[in-house]
Amino acid sequence: MEISVTLNTNPKAKPQDETALGFGKIFTDHMFLMNYNPQQGWHDARIVPFGDISLSPASTVLHYGAEIFEGMKAYRRKDGEIQFFRPQENFRRMNNSADRMCLPKLDEEFCLKALKKLVNIDKDWVPHTQGASLYIRPFLFGNDPFLGVHTVSNCIFCIILSPSGAYYKEGINPVKIMIETQDVRAVRGGTGYAKCGGNYAASMRAGEKAEQKGYAQVLWLDGVERKYVEEVGSMNVMFKISGTVVTPKLTGSVLPGITRMSCIALLKSWGVPVEERLISVEELAKAVKDGTLEEAWGTGTAAVVSPMGELNVDGVSYVVNGGKIGALTQKLYDELTGIQWGVKPDTFGWIEPLN
Ligand SMILES: *Cc1c(COP(=O)(O)O)cnc(C)c1O
Repeated sequence: MEISVTLNTNPKAKPQDETALGFGKIFTDHMFLMNYNPQQGWHDARIVPFGDISLSPASTVLHYGAEIFEGMKAYRRKDGEIQFFRPQENFRRMNNSADRMCLPKLDEEFCLKALKKLVNIDKDWVPHTQGASLYIRPFLFGNDPFLGVHTVSNCIFCIILSPSGAYYKEGINPVKIMIETQDVRAVRGGTGYAKCGGNYAASMRAGEKAEQKGYAQVLWLDGVERKYVEEVGSMNVMFKISGTVVTPKLTGSVLPGITRMSCIALLKSWGVPVEERLISVEELAKAVKDGTLEEAWGTGTAAVVSPMGELNVDGVSYVVNGGKIGALTQKLYDELTGIQWGVKPDTFGWIEPLN
């Protein structure tokens, strides 16, 4: 499929201060769009000036939440070249999410081609400042203009780009986590493993409650027994207990993170034992009390690795590693960011160059 290009004749000024970018607040000059209907399949692939999308007030996405998305980054190396980290995995996961939500599948190779074409056009927007990157948000939604509840026929796929600042501007500080014992994020058989907007809509209330109490993120428990930890906000979680890294197994209610998968590969290559299994809050509390919980951290594209310094459950606080980042957490962060920014060798073949 050809990708038509309409260049923006009124480009915006690039941000002057790349240390003040924040996350997802400003967007580049262009976006990628294409449409789907059962007759034509995916069609009308185009790169156009970034701007509003017009929708029918009856559009499926507005009423029934038929939406999935992805999140990844483009990194500028010291030599000025631009690269991606495992972008094929993002498009593969997007197709798994599409399958769960009855949305049409994408041609993964074509998506990568479209992404590269878009980033090439907006390549001057990829930040030059250390730790800052171009955040990439592909998303797909149902856009039928009627209210009947039915699998969707008309869809829109879009990619937008947002230069975003370093996640840690003043060094990595461990975050305080609230274990949520009332609301649940996902259940087996539900949509937990799909990256869909609806999962986030349902998680806002617990997030707000945690924030009001001074906690940065919510650690979710399984939706049936509310006994086993699942994940944190938009991150998977890992715990180092007596030298072994344990992480919740992918039971269908946990999002299969690409950072999670990469951390597991790195840890195994370093000879660190990794267990993917159920982990109860009770086990964690016991490990804190007997001193065997050595480190705890979250993994995700935005923060890469985020140490957890305190876990609070029903008003009881458990401090991990004296509230400081642990050695293995730091090593994972250094290795992954090193590979992503092209400072460390890409021994796993995870890097995809822009050109
Ligand atoms: C995106 C996401 C993650 C992290 O996935 P990465 O591929 O590592 O960025 C974890 N949990 C949820 C709920 C997510 O949406």
